[in-house]
Amino acid sequence: MKLEPLSPEFIKALPVLQTIQEAGFEAYFVGGCVRDFLLKQPIHDVDIATSATPYEIATLFPKTFDLGIQHGTIAVLLNHETYEITTFRTESGYQDFRRPDKVEFVRSLKEDLKRRDFTMNALAVSYDGTLVDLFSGLADLKQGLIRAVGNPHERFFEDALRMMRGVRFASQLGFEIEGETFAAIKEHHQLLENIAVERIRVEFEKLLLGQHAAFGLSAFIASELYRYTPGLTTAAQPLEELLRHLQPTITDETVAWSLLLAFVAPQEPRKFLQSWKLSNQRIKEVQLLLHYLPQRQQGLLPPLALYHLGLPLAVKLEELISHWGLTPEIFKLTQDYQGLPIKNRQSLAINGGDLLAAFPLGAGPWIAESLQLAEEKVVTALWLNEKDYLLQHLEEELRWKKILS
Ligand code: ATP
Ligand code: MG
Repeated sequence: MKLEPLSPEFIKALPVLQTIQEAGFEAYFVGGCVRDFLLKQPIHDVDIATSATPYEIATLFPKTFDLGIQHGTIAVLLNHETYEITTFRTESGYQDFRRPDKVEFVRSLKEDLKRRDFTMNALAVSYDGTLVDLFSGLADLKQGLIRAVGNPHERFFEDALRMMRGVRFASQLGFEIEGETFAAIKEHHQLLENIAVERIRVEFEKLLLGQHAAFGLSAFIASELYRYTPGLTTAAQPLEELLRHLQPTITDETVAWSLLLAFVAPQEPRKFLQSWKLSNQRIKEVQLLLHYLPQRQQGLLPPLALYHLGLPLAVKLEELISHWGLTPEIFKLTQDYQGLPIKNRQSLAINGGDLLAAFPLGAGPWIAESLQLAEEKVVTALWLNEKDYLLQHLEEELRWKKILS
């Protein structure tokens, strides 16, 4: 079967296939890009599989980068695009259910497609647009089925991450996981214990952000994969509860984690998020959103809360509340935010130096306390943001507190 017309992304990449073929090797577009093209979805990366070794590829293109040459992957830079080129390979070993002990370069496309996870991801397209479909991937795509290539039990033993990939594709595509494949996930869910948290997290975040997240999440629950993920080992009930609230669609990881935490309610939210190896930045954002969530559920945030949250996070909070059936008020929020007298501490008309110069007191906690007070009063429009005015009011305050005599 010929795919015509090819998408602009493929057409742009054709010179890569051409160069490899003219040197006497085979080369194909493979994996996610072929799947997404057939689904008429946007193509993220055009990946290429070839019979040439990375060393052979390196001699064919002026600009290449090592992306793990020992595993067979090299990147080629052409017309301002980077293409990942992977040598046909088989994988064997998998003593630890995750990494193959041995990667072997082979010259046959079939061997390479065989090692791929799902039939829809084991499709290839050649230079002239011919679809290579050795595992009925096209039929599965048309039926909306996620089916392991070959024996699902063996495939999940080889690499347990594939089970998580299965449920995240269910979430992204709204595809059913084929019966035997799903049964194998249910049977072998415990193998997920062998997979690094970071890799599980990537798939879990994609699941939560999928267009059909409720569908993917129910597969994640039904397969009991959750039992082998950090902090969720006994979370069936809260996950079900989350499922009932989940609105299409979560657009942001911070919102996703906040939502999850709102339902799972771990004793120590910080530790929970750390166990998923989230960045400190993300953890901070999630904690801020959760802090202001109850207040926002009662009504629009007052100026001081908006000020502390900042506009980008306040927008995320609006998305978050939609999962409780509340209506996001982005317009009102933006107006309120714009109306804040100052947006940050730097815009305050005084700083620590001004205080030291104005009052005969040495350095001490009174400085931070005074700045915080001034900040709050200015944000809530009780005080003017003017240097002399602020100093005068702070002087009264310091005298009243007997810090200044
Ligand atoms: P995405 O759109 O999220 O990038 P993708 O299918 O392209 O989805 P990648 O992780 O980019 O996923 O992998 C590219 C291809 O490599 C897949 O389509 C699949 O053929 C193969 N692949 C990736 N991970 C695995 C795995 N764990 N086991 C087997 N094959 C895999
Ligand atoms: Mg990809």
